[in-house]
Amino acid sequence: MKTPFILFLTLVLSSFVSPIFAKEPQNLEVIRTKLVKYHDSGEYQNDQAKVINQAMLYLKNRIANNAKSHKSVKMAIVMDIDETSLSNYDDMVRLRFGGTLEEIKQDEDKANDPAIKSSLELYRYAKKNNIAVFFISGRKENSRAPTTKNLNDAGYVNFDGLILRPENYSEKSIVPFKTSARTSVEKQGYTIVLNLGDQESDMKGNHADKSFKLPNPYYFIP
Ligand SMILES: [Mg+2]
Repeated sequence: MKTPFILFLTLVLSSFVSPIFAKEPQNLEVIRTKLVKYHDSGEYQNDQAKVINQAMLYLKNRIANNAKSHKSVKMAIVMDIDETSLSNYDDMVRLRFGGTLEEIKQDEDKANDPAIKSSLELYRYAKKNNIAVFFISGRKENSRAPTTKNLNDAGYVNFDGLILRPENYSEKSIVPFKTSARTSVEKQGYTIVLNLGDQESDMKGNHADKSFKLPNPYYFIP
């Protein structure tokens, strides 16, 4: 009888000790392992495909309705670039999900990021159906040449516009830039029927009929 009592006492005492650590965040290495597993297991790509499938169904409906409508509009879709159209995953792993802004820009300027497969399918579907596609990205204007090359090499050919963050942009959030970029697309006479991005900040600010958010547990852009 003695042993169970000691065990009971130990449990009671430990219950007084453990709350000290109750708010300890998860170990960074454990989180890194989960991030890699999410990608390598294919779950990440499946989650991306689920969102894109919804976007595709929605776009098909919009195209069909627009064709039937007496007031048909000139339709466009907006796509973000990083973790939406192109994947930086290999670079992120090499930088252990960190890195300085300079290191990240150097990687982007290598212009060798692969396409996110399901996004490329959406892009091709839109272009085939005469929907204009505009890329709006927080990448800076001085990355225009490598970004254009990368998009083209990855299969995003004949896009209708590439709007990049101005060099002198000083807002803390990307939302004002992305919103004004969508407004500039509307001023060209387009109705933005669909907006695709991977950040909450891609979703804010209206000027798109419907927004679809892809998963991205790897970084956060305010
Ligand atoms: Mg992005």
